Amino acid sequence: MERSLVLIKPDAMQRGLAGVIIGRLQGDGLKLLALKMLHMDRSLAERHYAVHRDKPFFRDLVAYITSAPIVAAVFEGEDAVERIRKIMGATDPAKAEKGTIRADYGLDVQRNATHASDSVENGRKEIALFFSGKEIFPPGPTES
Ligand code: UDP
Ligand code: MG
Repeated sequence: MERSLVLIKPDAMQRGLAGVIIGRLQGDGLKLLALKMLHMDRSLAERHYAVHRDKPFFRDLVAYITSAPIVAAVFEGEDAVERIRKIMGATDPAKAEKGTIRADYGLDVQRNATHASDSVENGRKEIALFFSGKEIFPPGPTES
């Protein structure tokens, strides 16, 4: 079983797409283990996107992700990391496969609706930035 952090980014939040996106992941059989709405501050954004520190888009990305409240979630499932990234599609919505979340809802390469972890190890680190152990629920009768 793998876990992934998922973020519903400001552009999707502003268009009321949180439920639709969470529903798509649940509809694929991925289990929702944790969920919260929060407004990321710069410190959290810089830690979450630390691997992109030296990229030309980093400053804009931090400004964007801290511009409005987001929803953060943890999903679990077999091959969850790869499955979720496939459901979301390519980073640039214009290049994302038809029927993916980013193709359907992304606006441009920055405002691409969602974030998902790109490896199990990065997922573990990202989840720890957003959720305490107590906020992550084991899959059971309440969520299956
Ligand atoms: N991003 C951007 N410009 C780019 C590439 C990426 O603004 O040229 C933003 C975009 O919001 C993306 C995030 O930075 O989702 C992280 O980039 P990454 O390459 O990790 O893409 P992802 O893993 O989200 O598909
Ligand atoms: Mg990434």
